[in-house]
Amino acid sequence: MSATEPTEVIERLTHEKRRLEKDIEHLRQHDPLTGLLNRQSFITILDRFFNTRDSKKSKGVLIEIGFKGMPRINGALGRHAADYVLSALAARMNMQQAVPNIFGRIDYWSFAAFYPDITDALEALSKGKELIELLSEPVDWVDRGLTLDVCAGVAICDPACENSANLIEHANLAMKSAGERGGRGYSFFNPALAKAAQRRSDLIAMLQQGFKDDHFKLQYQPLFDLKTGELSSFEALMRLDHPTFGIISPAEFIPVAEETGMIAKLGAWALTEACRAASHWPSHLTVAVNISPEQFYTGTLITDVHHALELSSFPAYRLELEVTESTMLKDSDIVLQQLNSLREMGCAIVLDDFGTGYSSLSYLWKFPFSKLKIDRSFIQAMDSTPMVRGMLRSIIDLARNFGLKTTAEGIETVEQADTIREFGADTVQGYLTGKPMDEKDMPALILRKFSDKMRGVNTTSPREERRIAN
Ligand code: C2E
Ligand code: CA
Ligand code: CA
Repeated sequence: MSATEPTEVIERLTHEKRRLEKDIEHLRQHDPLTGLLNRQSFITILDRFFNTRDSKKSKGVLIEIGFKGMPRINGALGRHAADYVLSALAARMNMQQAVPNIFGRIDYWSFAAFYPDITDALEALSKGKELIELLSEPVDWVDRGLTLDVCAGVAICDPACENSANLIEHANLAMKSAGERGGRGYSFFNPALAKAAQRRSDLIAMLQQGFKDDHFKLQYQPLFDLKTGELSSFEALMRLDHPTFGIISPAEFIPVAEETGMIAKLGAWALTEACRAASHWPSHLTVAVNISPEQFYTGTLITDVHHALELSSFPAYRLELEVTESTMLKDSDIVLQQLNSLREMGCAIVLDDFGTGYSSLSYLWKFPFSKLKIDRSFIQAMDSTPMVRGMLRSIIDLARNFGLKTTAEGIETVEQADTIREFGADTVQGYLTGKPMDEKDMPALILRKFSDKMRGVNTTSPREERRIAN
């Protein structure tokens, strides 16, 4: 065997070095699991496109494709299954002619495709649909096919889109908006999405600042007994009182607090604050506090309630906890256990916004409710839709048969209060009898005991009627 020439060895080593360098470069630019471009190199390529494009012309479309079911697969079947599904989807894409060169895995559970020559929304839409179709086909796993809800966000690179970061953010916002609608589907980016995202991040900052600087407060809306006409309770309603932006509605900030986990702290504060305030009221009055579905998963709800009651020496039987039907949807065993414990402690459990959700009647006997609050939408529809009156009457009868009290929410006129009283509801809450008010404005109402506004409503207590007449 002839000895290898030194030049031959050097050549071989140089070749090997080049190959290794190429491999390293490939690894640096690609996602090891799927072999697709990774986020960083995807951005670098988009940057190159932006640097060389004619900025006056709209050209190029970015589509981000999200796989909504992936966290579920990851949780239920394990990381191995999730990795397998993602690689299978990437391989499926790679086999398609229609897939552009600029295609990558830009997030944990999402891919992105950039089409540099598309200028037209219709063409962009057809690409989006094509990708959804392709990736929605089930992936075979052991003995079954795993199907994902695929959602696509489409962003067209118009002159307003200044750089690659803009375009990536637009496609991402559009994808999230498609995902929120449920099922598979697509959304185009529009400026309202960016505005909503900005508002959300402002709200997060306001919530964080609110904790630090004490910007939260509770207002209290009165509930009146329809038989006696007397004040019976207050519902505690949270406000974010921002020094610059004024009062911010809970309908806006509670969902953000829920998504970010801040609801645990906020909910515990509401319980403590409501019990403190109510401990100064006459002993026949109760206080109702809204409990978010998320609070059942913080693990601290029961101790939060305990703590709130203990701190103000407030009796549990005067505390009502309002939950909505969405609370029972997720993991009803976890919720049921806690509701039973709270009921055993002596608190009353109220089913809020009844009629707006799934209204499964099984909730009524499975969960320890003592009261139903009929949603405002029924009261609003009652005047214009005769059938709703029949429904209201039936709901109130049904509740009575289940041994539950009923409150009608959103009562704004004397006629509505009269009708609902005739139907047999127990209490009313609404602008007619009192808007939510600050704690400092409550003593006047409590002392009066009977709302002026209830004077027009026929209550059934002759004693009260005599009292009003005098
Ligand atoms: P909700 O529990 O259904 O509260 C009733 C809402 O209806 C309140 O809105 C109240 O101001 C409003 N309302 C009462 N009477 C009338 C009426 O006659 N007409 C009209 N148009 N509206 C009326 P608000 O205070 O903006 O609260 C909105 C929602 O925010 C509440 O709906 C509740 O779901 C949530 N929320 C409020 N405070 C808290 C809290 O401390 N914790 C949690 N988790 N949620 C809260
Ligand atoms: Ca409520
Ligand atoms: Ca309600």
